[in-house]
Amino acid sequence: MDIQFLGATGEVTGSCHLLTVGGRRVLLDCGLFQGGREDEARNLAPFPFDPASLDAVVLSHAHIDHSGRLPLLIKHGFKGPVYTHHASRDLCSVMLRDAAFIHEKEVEWVNRKRERKGLKPLEPVYTRADAQRAMRSFEGLAYGEVQEILPGIQLRLCDAGHILGSAIVELRLRERGRESVLVFSGDLGQPGADILHDPSQVAAADMLLLESTYGDRLHRSREDTLAEMHEVLDLALGGRGNVLIPAFAVGRTQELLHLFGEFFKQWGLARWQIFLDSPLAIEATGIYLKHSELFDAKARAMFARDRKIPVLPNLHLTRTPAQSMALNRIHSGAIIIAGSGMCTGGRIKQHLKHNVWRRDCHVVIVGYQAHGTLGRQLVDGARYIRLWGETIQVNARIHTLGGFSAHADQRALTDWLEPIRVPGEPVRGGQRPQVVLVHGEPEAQRVLAAHLRARQGVEPHIAARGECLPLPSRPITH
Ligand SMILES: [Zn+2]
Ligand SMILES: [Zn+2]
Repeated sequence: MDIQFLGATGEVTGSCHLLTVGGRRVLLDCGLFQGGREDEARNLAPFPFDPASLDAVVLSHAHIDHSGRLPLLIKHGFKGPVYTHHASRDLCSVMLRDAAFIHEKEVEWVNRKRERKGLKPLEPVYTRADAQRAMRSFEGLAYGEVQEILPGIQLRLCDAGHILGSAIVELRLRERGRESVLVFSGDLGQPGADILHDPSQVAAADMLLLESTYGDRLHRSREDTLAEMHEVLDLALGGRGNVLIPAFAVGRTQELLHLFGEFFKQWGLARWQIFLDSPLAIEATGIYLKHSELFDAKARAMFARDRKIPVLPNLHLTRTPAQSMALNRIHSGAIIIAGSGMCTGGRIKQHLKHNVWRRDCHVVIVGYQAHGTLGRQLVDGARYIRLWGETIQVNARIHTLGGFSAHADQRALTDWLEPIRVPGEPVRGGQRPQVVLVHGEPEAQRVLAAHLRARQGVEPHIAARGECLPLPSRPITH
């Protein structure tokens, strides 16, 4: 029994781990690398294994840095099932198609240039047809349901509270008289966040793969974050500009709309026109509503009453490119929520081009910005950015609201880890699981590892790219 780390090692994107048990091979996540050009080039590199040799895939959640290479895996010969939560399957059906569309568009653009240079055209990473084909492999599970996916491999998904359908993956493994429990945290939500439940607590593991996105940080409290948002909106209202909010289409967008509904009066939102300028986010919002049984009690009550997210009289859903382009002519009074969340693509780039050079405009960053992305450049205070070969001065005010994170912060990560023991061991004084940190940048991982060592006496291992670790196991006792 072993596990090899093939992505999200010392970085937050490209989640992908290969589990081998009794000759069976299961891939945990198959995510896209995101960030700068170098990161994205890795998406085109061949998989470091033969996709046809895999028996199954388990997908923690629908975010593209976890699911985005699945169509490619299938295109290259994977024929088995992809196990994931029902809601993740629904989300993937729109997200993978959207990712494919972006690949197709990008390649089209590159190919026009290549053609002029007399070069051979490139192929998109995968097409919408590939994405659609991939969906046939998906098998949806409910939280808590135990399924024997292969001989000796039992799977259970638990609510990770990160986005709709997000799961903590628990695998009970047996091989030659020994057993092991492998828990993969997936992306863990921040307790107390809106709409979804808090991450469920897992009791036992022999090995635990723990995400570490915010391993070095504590999020601002919800109250402070809401006050900050209120402040930014007040400030923006005093000027004559627009407010741009780059937001992940799945998760953050629904949370923002939910808050806009809740604080419509307090935040003076009646004086704005709010645009949800993302066909993907509009579709994803529909999927959230379809699965409102997964909401926490407060959100459930709100949606049971309204049956839509939320009642915003001035919310405009802009679906077509023409509707989106029309926003370029609005110079003030618009709040534009658009993707992509890290400004690496999508309609937000167009809005940045038309707004970021204007002093009266505001950009509100409400999500994680990976190293190498345009969003990260803005957060880091870039004076100029490049968009479609054009240099654009950054004069707009950039506000970073860290408290909106969909990821657990250092305290939430350590609190979640604290009670977990090796199966059969008592909570008090019992043996701790082997902890392996994934899905975090090196500094976050270093700080989290030091913190866990000092506070809990566990010695986390930081996964390195390509590294393979044996799974700790126990003799089967029953
Ligand atoms: Zn995620
Ligand atoms: Zn992630």
